[in-house]
Amino acid sequence: MPEHPLADSTGQVWEHRKIAYERYGGTLPPCELCGKHITWQTAHIDHKDENRANNDLDNLRHLCRVCNVTRTVQSTAVLLTINGVTQNVARWSKDPRCAVSDATIRQRVSKGWPHERCVFDPPAHRGRPKGSELKKVMNKKARRLERRIEMKREAA
Ligand SMILES: [Zn+2]
Repeated sequence: MPEHPLADSTGQVWEHRKIAYERYGGTLPPCELCGKHITWQTAHIDHKDENRANNDLDNLRHLCRVCNVTRTVQSTAVLLTINGVTQNVARWSKDPRCAVSDATIRQRVSKGWPHERCVFDPPAHRGRPKGSELKKVMNKKARRLERRIEMKREAA
């Protein structure tokens, strides 16, 4: 269909874009989620049910790039299984044993941490440890040093 206004360089038109075009013509209404002005160059025609074969008009909506990307991130829910319980990140972050935000959990998942640690590990410290934490670290270092000195003495 090379004569179609939405045809790409290979002369093809995505079926769902064609259907949306038939509905709206050359001027799209603003993004359905944020109201931003969109054109056929910037618009993403989204399948509400994620089923790309379902090109029913009711299943299609027009989104700006930002909304479409955000939506995709949210819909690819990360499921974590801990002790036989499978929940998405949002649910796990509300678990009373969880001490971090869902963003942190997601970050840990993307780093490949074991699921249990993603949710239940305490938040990481930014920069140097402070107060009692620092004392603990110093004590540990001191003990290690003492041990090393002792070993040297024994070896001598
Ligand atoms: Zn938008």
